[in-house]
Amino acid sequence: MPRRFRDFDQLLSAVKKEANNRPLCLAFAPGATQLDVYWSDAVRQTGEPHDAAVNCIQALHVGRNYKWERGIVLFHTDGYSGGKMAQKMLEFVGSFPREVSRKTINATFEVTLIQCAKRTEALPQFDPAGLGPAPNVDLAWEAKPGRERAVHRLYMMLAFALVQSRVGNSGEGHNIGAVLVAPDGALLGWGLNTARKNYTFHAELNAIQDFYHRTNQPLPEGCRMYTTLKPCQMCAGMIRDAARRPETLRVFFAQDDQSTGSTALDELQGVQRLLGRESDIFSEVPFVISKAKALRLERLRAESDAANRLATGWRDSRLAHRTAYLTTPTALDVFKSASARLIDKIDQYQGHLQLGNPAVRKVLDHIRPFVQQMGIMAAGPAPAFGSQSALVANDVLNDLMQEDWDSIDKAVNESQMHL
Ligand SMILES: [Zn+2]
Repeated sequence: MPRRFRDFDQLLSAVKKEANNRPLCLAFAPGATQLDVYWSDAVRQTGEPHDAAVNCIQALHVGRNYKWERGIVLFHTDGYSGGKMAQKMLEFVGSFPREVSRKTINATFEVTLIQCAKRTEALPQFDPAGLGPAPNVDLAWEAKPGRERAVHRLYMMLAFALVQSRVGNSGEGHNIGAVLVAPDGALLGWGLNTARKNYTFHAELNAIQDFYHRTNQPLPEGCRMYTTLKPCQMCAGMIRDAARRPETLRVFFAQDDQSTGSTALDELQGVQRLLGRESDIFSEVPFVISKAKALRLERLRAESDAANRLATGWRDSRLAHRTAYLTTPTALDVFKSASARLIDKIDQYQGHLQLGNPAVRKVLDHIRPFVQQMGIMAAGPAPAFGSQSALVANDVLNDLMQEDWDSIDKAVNESQMHL
């Protein structure tokens, strides 16, 4: 039922009364004479990826896949204290006035007050029942500096494969995916970027909010997140706040995003890193190409141009949209190929793969039901390498994954023989 208020103060006291004077946030988008004003009280407990500001911002952005051009108004009462997640989400979606003028809302506005609950929209079809710990997968050991091992790359491939399974079939996903993994290797959750539904629904954020709604728990100690792109400021803030002990987190990302700047995770030393130097796939492409294909590129100038376009495309994309470049055919090839290679590995495991890293075999066995459940099996074969863009993607993937499989599997086997 729309109501009219004399001024903002009168509206505020009406909301406070509805909230029984608990600390609260309210938010609305200015510019119309009929306003929906969203409010939420500050109910966040440790690790809960919602608080009053997050609830309000997400409610405002339902159905909107871009920022509000003129900036929304977000106001909080005394006693509200948002953590990094709210603060960084605020910075992500726009800038806001701290003080709200009494004239901002007055008798010329029709206002509908809406109490917004925490987001409940779940990701489709994820039922972790039956996906218990991957036995004897010691991620603590695997994660030691300088030992980014095949197991981590497997989980990263799973994130890539999730992207492909969605992007390839439905156009969802925006080519960014995230997988949450417990210290014992169990799959805790996943997420894809669904920013077309809501500007704030990034892959990492989807994974964390989905995990919370299923478990009502903060991210467990020693939790790992594998994400295909370096988390933005908003997601980094949420990852940090959602963890039971943030300093024990590990966040691996495949692609760097220098437009992100410093984040809440940077403050936690050793928490976040690229999964191997070569996995910085887009910024490293010129180096990879010149090393691996120098002779061929000299003869095939067209391919060299393709490599340059790939590199500059990523650089230029920062000016337009930080991830717009990821929808290009070359980037899609990378995701598609990662998916196919993961399926290859699983097929090998099922068939005749007896040698190699035992931890890798256990993870392959462990993630297989998830891969099937998520429809990744239907993702289709890897692209036929031969086109200019696919040639680049093939080189990148070789560095990202293939070299490791043999050398690292062998190294781990050798060390385990001494145990
Ligand atoms: Zn993000």
